[in-house]
Formats: sequence, structure tokens, C-alpha cells
Amino acid sequence: MEEIKAAIRTIPDFPKPGIQFKDITPLLADGARFYETINRFEARHENHGIDMVVGIEARGFIFASALAYALGAGTCLVRKPGKLPHTVHQQTYELEYGTDAVEIHADAFLPDQRILIVDDVLATGGTMAATIALIQNNFEVKLIEIDFLIELTFLNGRDKLPGQPIHALVTY
Ligand code: AMP
Repeated sequence: MEEIKAAIRTIPDFPKPGIQFKDITPLLADGARFYETINRFEARHENHGIDMVVGIEARGFIFASALAYALGAGTCLVRKPGKLPHTVHQQTYELEYGTDAVEIHADAFLPDQRILIVDDVLATGGTMAATIALIQNNFEVKLIEIDFLIELTFLNGRDKLPGQPIHALVTY
């Protein structure tokens, strides 16, 4: 795990002052570490009968699609508004200033499918809380786990996700 952590680079003051941005591109560029990362996610779920792995735009797609491939599951996309071409469900959520929203195709899941949701970073938890509401308000699926590569524990994102099955590979 330390090798995975060592492949994640912290960029101070990006995209704005005060943010310590976790840059995963060195990890993605290191074949052995990227392989290990996906294998670690896969090992958690190989016997869980996962049908679908949900990825959140944009870096979540990278991990969700690789994990879906490893598990032999499908993958589906949670995107910013206006990006998905078919009929969508939408969930808005609060930002520091204003609101944002996430969307998913209305035919993303079949009833009772067993799903994972994957993203790169758990920061304040707002995006993941909206994604869970988006899915649970519109579909009858079983959420098996929410998997992050990185959890920024000092931002207390778990407080926005009470009772949810959360796992992070690396914490700061
Ligand atoms: P949040 O809704 O605050 O949990 O953050 C949502 C998304 O913002 C995450 O999926 C990350 O892609 C991105 N993000 C937030 N904070 C950081 C950070 N410090 N470094 C890299 N990405 C971040």
C-alpha cells in the first residue's frame, strides 16, 4: 500500500489556493502500481457477484472501468449535466457557492443488480452523497460497497455518507 501511496503526487494550491490536490497521474503511468491498485479492489469483490461498477466523472471512470473488466461486470457512468445522450435522472447538490448536479441514464440498471460505486478521492463527500441519492431514489439495486482510491480523512466526508459501506485504499 505504501508503494501505491508513494505513486500519488500532492500538488499544493491546485486548482486554487489552499487545496492540496492529489494527482493520480504518476500512479496511472506506473503499470505495476496501477495493476496492483485494480487487483486490490478486485480482491475485495471477486466473490460478491457484482453486476455493475459505477464510475463518477471523470477520474472515477478510469478505476471503475478497469475494475469492471477485472470482475467481468458491466460499468456505467455518472456524469455532469448535459453529457449523457439518453433519458436521465438528475440529483442536485450543494457546493460552497451554488449548486451542481449529477446525472445517470434512466436505464442504467436492472432491478436487484449488485453494484459498486468507485471514485478516485473522497474529499467532502458531496459528490458521492449526491450519487448515492441519485441511484437509491431511482433504482432498486443493492449497493455492495463504495470504493475510493484516496480518502482525505481531515475533510470528514464520511459524515455525509452515514451508514454506507465505504472503503478507501489509501488515507491522508
Ligand atoms: P467531494 O465531493 O468534495 O468529495 O470531491 C469530489 C471530487 O473532487 C472527487 O471525486 C475528486 O475527484 C475531486 N477532489 C476533491 N478534492 C480533491 C483533492 N484534494 N485532490 C484531488 N481531487 C480532489
